[in-house]
Amino acid sequence: MSANAPITQDVLTIPRKLPEGPVNIVGLTRDELRDALIAAGTAEKQAKMRVNQVWQWIYHWGVRDFAQMTNLAKEYRALLADNFVVALPEMVTKQVSEDGTRKYLVRIAGGHEVEIVYIPEEDRGTLCVSSQVGCTLTCTFCHTGTQKLVRNLTAGEIVGQIMLARDDLDEWPRPGVGTGEDGPRLLSNIVLMGMGEPLYNFDNVRNAMKIAMDGEGIALSRRRITLSTSGVVPEIARCATEIGCQLAISFHATTDEVRDVLVPINKRWNIKTLLDTLREYPKLSNSERITFEYVMLKDVNDSDEDARRLVKLIRGIPAKINLIPFNEWPGSPYERSDWKRIKAFADIIYKAGYASPIRTPRGEDIMAACGQLKSATERARKSRREIEKEAGLG
Ligand code: SAH
Ligand code: SF4
Repeated sequence: MSANAPITQDVLTIPRKLPEGPVNIVGLTRDELRDALIAAGTAEKQAKMRVNQVWQWIYHWGVRDFAQMTNLAKEYRALLADNFVVALPEMVTKQVSEDGTRKYLVRIAGGHEVEIVYIPEEDRGTLCVSSQVGCTLTCTFCHTGTQKLVRNLTAGEIVGQIMLARDDLDEWPRPGVGTGEDGPRLLSNIVLMGMGEPLYNFDNVRNAMKIAMDGEGIALSRRRITLSTSGVVPEIARCATEIGCQLAISFHATTDEVRDVLVPINKRWNIKTLLDTLREYPKLSNSERITFEYVMLKDVNDSDEDARRLVKLIRGIPAKINLIPFNEWPGSPYERSDWKRIKAFADIIYKAGYASPIRTPRGEDIMAACGQLKSATERARKSRREIEKEAGLG
């Protein structure tokens, strides 16, 4: 072809290398994938179809190797292999608890590590996903809160956790074997309750959850995904408008005085501000109930008076209250409330008309219970003095 030959449509289909090197497809939204495929030489007219094909291979069938994407022409598979990768975090260790809970330690780019927990129950299987390495917040009862924020996870690293768990559970469908398509699924629910504050990494969390909900792929219902926040008030509405998943609030105290210590973000947005926001929330989310999480700490927040104040505070908000027996970790400055106390607290809430399930601690023998997650190799730790000072003990 001479230098001044007219550029034709064909030129667009000649494979070319993306300037920034191979791009990881995992974590790209449909629009981002479309743009990337076009940039790599896919004809615009075909882009939508190509997105659908690649999407199904990766998120429905769990295929990672372009060579196995058999409904694509050989040349197109070569174009993909030249420009893209399908990369997940690397599984480092897996521990299985006596009760069947599985804890995975995975390594992400930069050598950082995060934990993921899979909790099998009779009627469901829940994956507890992390959104950050460490946390900027410093809730004094939370192990992750003792670790500084290292970085936000990318959308690919968040959805990658779900894909790794499906690998481990062997839950990708095979032709003729519809694992998880019609029948019950091993991994049926997602809770964003691992390490980190999801609303401080909103865009990546949203994109990852959109991928997990996409009907052509992993296809989890929005009703089976719960985002838990410590109360990042300005971002809460986006949970309903941009993701549409269920919302849980780490409430944990009934006075600002106590909540300021337990959940220090309360100093920024106090109980009243948080509750005002939550009163508006049901209008955005079709009146779904909000879960109030309440960690039971001996002699700190577990009195009858607290229980009564709690139901009074949340009056008018469609809610359920999830009581979490405190899970201790090495050096934790609190103790778990006695079982009798937790029951009495639950009783007051129940009599006031709210569901008040007590969360059974799972995987304690492998330090997989709520709030115990922390990457053991992470060096950026707060000192014991800092932790005690934050807890008001220093
Ligand atoms: N950052 C988010 C989500 C992660 S924590 C948030 O704070 O909501 C998930 C839940 O576990 C939160 O309700 C958190 O307060 C609770 N939690 C943290 N540490 C805990 C511990 N040691 N024992 C019991 N629950 C804990
Ligand atoms: Fe961060 Fe949530 Fe732990 Fe608080 S409870 S430190 S917000 S992970």
